[in-house]
Amino acid sequence: MTMAKLSNTARILLALVPVLAALPLVLPTYQITLANNIGIFSLATLGLILLTGVGGMTSFGQAAFVGIGAYTTAYFAVGVDLPPVLAWLGGSPWSGLLVGLALTLAVAALLGALTLRLSGHYLPLGTIAWGLSLSYLFGNLEFLGGHTGLSGMPALSLFGIALDRAEGLFYLIWAVLLVAVLVTLNLLDSREGRAIRALRGGQRMSESMGVNSFRAKMTAFLVAAAFASVAGWLYAYTQRFVSPAPFSLQAGIDFMFMALIGGVGHVWGAVIGATAVTVLKQGLQDWLPHLLGRTGNFESIVFGLLIVALMQWAPGGIAGWLAGRLGSHRRRNAPAVPAAADPLPRRTLPKPGELVLEVQRVTRKFGGLTANNNISFTVKAGEILGVIGPNGAGKSTLFNQLSRVDTPTSGEIRFRGHAINGLTARDMAGAGLSRTFQHVKLLPTMTVLENVAIGAHRRGTKGVVAAALRLDRDEEARLLAEARRQLIRVGLGDLLHVEAGSLALGQQRILEIARALCSDPCLLLLDEPAAGLRHLEKQALATLLETLRDEGMAILLVEHDMDFVMGLVDRVFVMEFGQRIAEGLPETIQTNPAVLEAYLGGVE
Ligand code: ADP
Ligand code: MG
Repeated sequence: MTMAKLSNTARILLALVPVLAALPLVLPTYQITLANNIGIFSLATLGLILLTGVGGMTSFGQAAFVGIGAYTTAYFAVGVDLPPVLAWLGGSPWSGLLVGLALTLAVAALLGALTLRLSGHYLPLGTIAWGLSLSYLFGNLEFLGGHTGLSGMPALSLFGIALDRAEGLFYLIWAVLLVAVLVTLNLLDSREGRAIRALRGGQRMSESMGVNSFRAKMTAFLVAAAFASVAGWLYAYTQRFVSPAPFSLQAGIDFMFMALIGGVGHVWGAVIGATAVTVLKQGLQDWLPHLLGRTGNFESIVFGLLIVALMQWAPGGIAGWLAGRLGSHRRRNAPAVPAAADPLPRRTLPKPGELVLEVQRVTRKFGGLTANNNISFTVKAGEILGVIGPNGAGKSTLFNQLSRVDTPTSGEIRFRGHAINGLTARDMAGAGLSRTFQHVKLLPTMTVLENVAIGAHRRGTKGVVAAALRLDRDEEARLLAEARRQLIRVGLGDLLHVEAGSLALGQQRILEIARALCSDPCLLLLDEPAAGLRHLEKQALATLLETLRDEGMAILLVEHDMDFVMGLVDRVFVMEFGQRIAEGLPETIQTNPAVLEAYLGGVE
C-alpha cells in the first residue's frame, strides 16, 4: 500500500477500531444486533461498490448471492438432511463458509459467463432475472425448508469460542468487514484493479493496451459475490434461521440503495450507506406511526422520497459529499513510486531495417462508403512513415484495422511476418503494436501515473489474490517505475500524481504516448499526436520520436502539421477518400501535383 493511502486508511481505522471495540460495552443488545446487521449489509454492499461503482456493472442480484451463502451455512449447520457423502461436513461452521463460497462462486461464474458480455441494460435485467429466480428457488426446495425456511441452527462456535451472543458476533462481523475493506482497497491499488477501474468508459482503450476486459469484469463480479456469500454466512449465524424473504429481489434493490446513498465511488461508502439506510429505516419504522397516529408501511414511501431527494443534491452519495467537503483531493491517494525497482524485461526488438508491418490491399467498407480502398504499404524498424490526408481520408480507420480495433472487409495485414487475421486488439498489444487515439481515451479521475501504468498491463502477471494479500508489491513497483520512466521521457515527469482529466489536451495526447511506450512496443501508431501542442512541445515531441526511431522503433504518424511531419518522417503516404494518392520522400511529396491539388491545395 502506498504511504499516502496507508495513512488515509490507517487514519480511518485508528479512529474506527477503538469506537467499534467499545460499542458492545456501552450499547444495549438490541442496538448491537442492529450494528451486526449493518456490518453484514456493509459487506454485501462493498461488493456492489466494486462491481457497480468501480466497474460500472449494475447488479440487483447481490442479495441472491447472500442467500446462497446463508442457505448453505444453515443447511450444513443444521446437518440433519445431509446426504451420506456430505455427512462428515455437517455441524461445522467452516463447511458452511467454504461450501457456501464455492457454490456462490460457481453460480456467479456461470451467471457471469452468460451476462457479463452483454452491454447496456441487459446486465441489470439479467441480474433482476437471476435475483428473482434464485429467491423463488430457495422457497421451493423442500430440503431447504420451502417458504418456512431452515431453523434450529446451533450457535456459532469458532476455535472453541462460543459466539452465541450479539456482542461476540459483533466483533467477528466487524473484523471480517474491515478485512474486506482492506482487501478491496488493496485490489483497487493494483494491476488488476486498474483493469477493473478502466471498465467504466475505458474498455476500448484498455483492450488496445492489452487488458482483458471480460476477465476484469469477471474478477469484480466474483469478488462481489464472495463478499455476499460471506455476508450470508454471518447472517445465517446471527439469525440462526434462514427463510427466502431476506434474499428477495427487494433486498437486492436495497443493497443498491445502500451503495448509492453511501457513495458508489468510495469504498467506505458501503459502510456509510448500510448504516444510513438501516438506521433510517429503523427510525422511520419506530417514529412514523407516532407521528402520523396510525400504522402502515409509510416508512417505505418516506424512504423512497428521501432517496430521490438525496440523489438530487448529492449524486455522489454521502461519501462523495464528505470527500468534497473535506477537500480530500485524489492526489493524496496517488500510489507512491519506490525509488529503485528492477526494470521490467523487454521483448526482442526487430533489427533496424527489418520489415515490421506489411499492409496488402486492405479495404474497409462502411455500408456504401469505402473508408480504406485497396491500401498497401510497408514499414520497417527504425523508420517513421507519415500518413497524411484531409479529414475523412480514412487515416484513423486504417489505424483501427492495423490495431485490430476493427476488421478489414478484405486484404491482409502482416505484423512481424505473421498475418494478424483473427487476432484481437489485446493480442496486438501483446505482440508489440501500441497506439494512441485521435480522440484521447484516458481515465480522467485516475492519476497520470496510473493511466500510463495500464500500458504496462501485459508486462505483469499478478492477479487479484496476490493484490488482495499485497504479494504483488515487487511487480507493482516495477510497473509503476516503468510508467514513471516513460512519463519522464515524454516530459510529464512533474505531473505523475495529478488526475489525468486535469491535464491540457496536448498533455493528454503526450500521456497516451507514454502509455503506449509502457507496453514495450516495436510499432507505434500515433494518431495526430501534435494536435493542441505548443511550438516547444512539438519540438520536444519531434526529438522524442527521433530518439525512438534511432532505437529501432517503427512509427506510423498521422498528423496535419506539415512542418512537423515533413521535418521528421522518412517517407510519406498520402490518402484521399480512402485511396492512396501518393507515396514517397517528404521532398518529392511536397511538390507532387496530385498532393498539392488534393491536400495542400485545400489548406492554402
Ligand atoms: P480520417 O482519420 O482520415 O480523418 P476516418 O478514418 O476517421 O478519417 O474516416 C474515414 C471515413 O470513414 C469518414 O467518412 C468517416 O465518416 C467514415 N467512418 C469512420 N468510421 C466509421 C464507422 N465506424 N462507421 C461508419 N463510417 C465510418
Ligand atoms: Mg482521423
